[in-house]
Amino acid sequence: MPRHKKDGLNKLIEFKNVSKSYDNGTKALDDVNIKIEQGEFVFIVGDSGAGKSTLLKIMMREEVATTGTVVIKNRLLNTMKKRDIPYFRRHLGIVFQDFRLIPNMTVYDNVAFAMRVIGAKEKKISKRVPYVLGLVGLAEKSKALPNQLSGGEQQRVALARAIVNNADIIIADEPTGNVDAKRSYEIVEMLNKINATGTTVIMVTHSEELVRRFGRRVITIQDGRIKSDDVSREKIVAESALPPDLNLSSRRAIREADEFIRNYKPESERKKSGGESDE
Ligand code: ADP
Repeated sequence: MPRHKKDGLNKLIEFKNVSKSYDNGTKALDDVNIKIEQGEFVFIVGDSGAGKSTLLKIMMREEVATTGTVVIKNRLLNTMKKRDIPYFRRHLGIVFQDFRLIPNMTVYDNVAFAMRVIGAKEKKISKRVPYVLGLVGLAEKSKALPNQLSGGEQQRVALARAIVNNADIIIADEPTGNVDAKRSYEIVEMLNKINATGTTVIMVTHSEELVRRFGRRVITIQDGRIKSDDVSREKIVAESALPPDLNLSSRRAIREADEFIRNYKPESERKKSGGESDE
């Protein structure tokens, strides 16, 4: 297993002068430098086409940087051998934009599958899967098939599958269209809880309000470059930050999501104040 020990051991993820050009000549990333420590929660935002997916794909070793170096868990991804990739990916739990659930498998088996492929024993699986389904609020749905679930529930199955093997890094790529307000918020709440256990979380999102609300580190990508890192304290105008190429219903959904999050109050706070007012 190639290891990269030069730059200290505590950095979980490091992109150094990373550029990525696709075969057709498109430069998707341009001199990107990012360091993420174990236990951080990082939002990645940027317009459509900015380079967010490319960044995630390089982290997952689906794509390789054209120049620069990428080190994750002390492994240099640039030169990683094909046979080492599946082992490396065990450190990652990925919630894909389109969830990628297996249609003819129950919720239970979709999550169990992630454990079976790494050779976990059925005894362990039968304990762990119900536990994780409980964490994401799907204990009652374990026998359902994906097409019997709402979009939000499907996303939670995808999340359960991402965390079931205790990955060090959870990568969540939020769907672009039809963003459901409550759903976005719930997913970040769950990711927050997972992060509180020491797991690193990286989430791509389109909701500026979500980002503002949670006050975590924010990396903004524009035209393949890091425009800003940690803009959570900056004032962002949500309206102008909407990706320009979204269709109307997606834009409306994002605005509704922002509205929901603006007015959202956790149960505990609501009881405390006893009122409806916010901020
Ligand atoms: P985002 O996730 O922020 O929408 P992407 O990383 O998908 O951005 O895309 C960045 C740029 O790279 C865009 O111009 C996109 O068209 C281009 N791109 C993405 N994937 C490929 C590919 N496989 N081949 C060629 N160009 C690509």
